[in-house]
Amino acid sequence: MFERKDLEAFEKFKADEHFVVSLFLNVSPQERKRGTYLSKFKNLIKTLSEEKLSLVKEDIEKIEKFLQTERESFKKSLVLYSCVKKEFWQRYDLNIEIKDELIIDKTPYTNPLFDLLDNYHKYGILLVDKRSARVFLVFLGDIEEYGMVEHDHVPGKHKKGGWFALAEKRYERHIEHHVKIHLKDVVDKFGDFLKDREIRRLIVAGPDEAIYELMRILPESIKQKIVGRTFIEKYASAEEVLDKVIPIINDYEQMKESKTLSELITRSRKNDNAVLGIDDVIKYLRDRRVMKLIIPKDYKIDGKVCVSCGFATQQDVDCCMECGDCVMKTYNLIEKATEMSLQNGALIEVVKDEKERKQLIENGGIGAFLRF
Ligand SMILES: [Zn+2]
Repeated sequence: MFERKDLEAFEKFKADEHFVVSLFLNVSPQERKRGTYLSKFKNLIKTLSEEKLSLVKEDIEKIEKFLQTERESFKKSLVLYSCVKKEFWQRYDLNIEIKDELIIDKTPYTNPLFDLLDNYHKYGILLVDKRSARVFLVFLGDIEEYGMVEHDHVPGKHKKGGWFALAEKRYERHIEHHVKIHLKDVVDKFGDFLKDREIRRLIVAGPDEAIYELMRILPESIKQKIVGRTFIEKYASAEEVLDKVIPIINDYEQMKESKTLSELITRSRKNDNAVLGIDDVIKYLRDRRVMKLIIPKDYKIDGKVCVSCGFATQQDVDCCMECGDCVMKTYNLIEKATEMSLQNGALIEVVKDEKERKQLIENGGIGAFLRF
């Protein structure tokens, strides 16, 4: 897992007179079975000029060897940064697919990773009971245990025996008191994590009584982030926790997707800072007014792009409708819109659910929320 601050540090990396190789490669099990990922890597190398290649010969050799020997440890995709001359080497294993790319430049190429940070949400998982708590982070289909606390001093339930009813009641209050202290301590210890602005959603897990007490003491700012609850065995492995929360996350994201889409459609009908259709979207992208782009997964729109002014349209025009210059046919205006969004710092949301995706395609195939 990577964090924004890691990427920011990479941007400051000084290669001096040397160059950094940045590789983004899908290495999913299917790709590995037939060795496809290796031939894809070799094809990426072929796209580089001899001159450029000679600058990073050692890096390419190192990466090739790594790809051959480490294949067993790969996940779905791989990100590698290498600058042998500066002893710089960084590897990230991702559990999602990314676009294959090989870039040679003075600094590590981090845009695709920043992009992931902007467009995928981090989920915090808080697993509590009356005497312990564990916290996990789920991001890009991966899970990491962040920390745990265990309070041994919380007394256990007393066996029924020679106690007076009154004493028993007092004893229960005594337990409750300790549970409260325990949970308060949990919130103190993990407060920074739970409040972290990058972690915008939380899932809680645990028995009713513990969750009930927890809800009473959690600050409103943390409570608002909770999007689901489940039951997880106290000593569950990270993978078991992930299996439990993935369906909750998928449901939640789908619900959000459909909300976003209906908001987009309603607002664009009212001309309320939202538009649908590629021509309008590109127009507003050129004006740098797009705040968030909404696109369907795996969808293309053909069109024409002006060779000089950047004008683009879905219509079959012979010359630019703005400057009159020549236009070129393009097979993917959505990709063009995506590139422009990245340059403008606009967010991109990909609609994946089949029903919503179809609805977006029927309503122009692309849309955007505008800044103003
Ligand atoms: Zn033009």
